[in-house]
Amino acid sequence: MSETIYIADSSFFIEDHNIKIEEIHTTESVIQELKSLKAKLKFEAFSPFVIFHKPSEESINKIKEIAKNHGEISLSQVDVEILAIALDLSKSKNVVILSDDYSIQNICKYLGIECKGISKKIIKKKIKWELYCKICGNKLPSSAITCIYCGSKDVARRPSSD
Ligand SMILES: [Zn+2]
Repeated sequence: MSETIYIADSSFFIEDHNIKIEEIHTTESVIQELKSLKAKLKFEAFSPFVIFHKPSEESINKIKEIAKNHGEISLSQVDVEILAIALDLSKSKNVVILSDDYSIQNICKYLGIECKGISKKIIKKKIKWELYCKICGNKLPSSAITCIYCGSKDVARRPSSD
């Protein structure tokens, strides 16, 4: 059986939790998401156990493609990198992502990678998003900025019905 490693996004260092693990794998980019002093101190305390990884270009592109296809537009660059190192490491190890981010949890389902919430409940269902126009209600293509039917700029996201 292969070794299980835990990959944490910034919520691991921001939220309160009692998770105790020997090693935490992450990317250097999470540091930029630690804005509060509390989070920075927490990260300091964890730092002897933190192992940084640099994602491969190939995995970054794959994650971006999956995110785009499933309408996960709120995924940040840091989120993409976290998912990309998970993809890289999952080739040789059993990977668990620790994250409270719904977009990360959702992409994990598509990748078949286990994701555990830190403080919130994990979503049970795969959510696929679609863009729609708040004025005329029509479903829009994932790249739409304005409504292609009525020209409104009131474009929003909703869980897809198909
Ligand atoms: Zn419209």
